[in-house]
Amino acid sequence: MNDHRKLGRELRLFDTDPLIGAGLPYWLPDGAAVRHALEEYVREAERRAGYRHVYSPVLGKRELYEISGHWEHYSEDMFPPMDLGAEQVVLRPSLCPHHAVIFRSRGRSYRELPLRMAELGPMFRAELSGVLGGLTRVRSIQLNDAHIFCRLDQVADEVRGALGMIRDAYRALGIDAARYRLSLPGEGGKYVKDPELWRRANALLVEVLEESGIRYEQADGEAAFYGPKIDVQVVDSAGREATLSTVQVDFHQPARFDLSYIGPDGQRHRPVMVHRAVIGSVERAVAHLIETHGGAFPTWLAPVQLLVLPLSDAQLPDAEALVSQALALGLRAELAAPDQGTLGSRVRAGRLVPYRAVLGPAESATGRLALRPRTGEQLPPEPAEAALRRILADVP
Ligand SMILES: [Zn+2]
Repeated sequence: MNDHRKLGRELRLFDTDPLIGAGLPYWLPDGAAVRHALEEYVREAERRAGYRHVYSPVLGKRELYEISGHWEHYSEDMFPPMDLGAEQVVLRPSLCPHHAVIFRSRGRSYRELPLRMAELGPMFRAELSGVLGGLTRVRSIQLNDAHIFCRLDQVADEVRGALGMIRDAYRALGIDAARYRLSLPGEGGKYVKDPELWRRANALLVEVLEESGIRYEQADGEAAFYGPKIDVQVVDSAGREATLSTVQVDFHQPARFDLSYIGPDGQRHRPVMVHRAVIGSVERAVAHLIETHGGAFPTWLAPVQLLVLPLSDAQLPDAEALVSQALALGLRAELAAPDQGTLGSRVRAGRLVPYRAVLGPAESATGRLALRPRTGEQLPPEPAEAALRRILADVP
């Protein structure tokens, strides 16, 4: 069984330090490389799907969250406000309010809808120190978030599109959804009181789930405070279930922020907000990837994609040149020089690297490489550039 906390330390992906604080992991170069590849995948998938990216600040005035409803419904998960002169600012508990404000920063026309606004940005949750550990319960969260502002009759298509992106991403990442959950409100004051709003949003989500033939289960008390959601659940190595991806329908925040667009009739109309996260939090996604793959990441995600092993010091200059060539082509490549041990021990140390290239006298003389994939087979010798391009092509 793979515990991401143990593997993360062994593989030098991330760590924590009591001086920085509980629930505040830092990323080491190999972990940062995985995270970077994942974030680039998401940004590119979003770009292809018609999203535009923004950056918004990690702080906001208390008033922003009073308007959004977080202050009333979500404050127990928020850090205490900071006094700054006459005002109070808050580490944001979500990105939605910032995006709503960006939407209303100028007049909008129906022609701009659906307007898909994405951001991979930090948000903060005041987790108690007792439940913190590894990457799954953290206080600073990098969220793959997006908000789609659209007409009511566009919501179903947007929800379908988001579910399609989630499905594609899971395929590329080599992970499986444990189940789809329709998360509904429960009892108590955590949820916005507006039965009609809940009924309409719920009906839209159910419609898409039923049409898509997705099997799902309902869960009371798991909704966002402002609306119901479809959660894509994964299971960790200890059998614990967690939400990775989510799609939510929200009528509440558009009203709170008085969002509007001008319709073909020249009148003001209220858009709906669809909140969605394809891989959810980057921390939790990487934790799940570590556990699923046991550190043997798919090539496009691997911290090092090619390990170059010269047989002896005589091949060292050619090996260094090959690493440079690979880096220039866009690969993550490293040298395992003879001073790091016998060839056998260097191969063992690099067993999780997707491709190895051993350089002996023959390879040096001919400039040809026989790549050895992690899977055990041996590819025929080919010109170095062709071999490197083969690795580059091993992406989703
Ligand atoms: Zn949101």
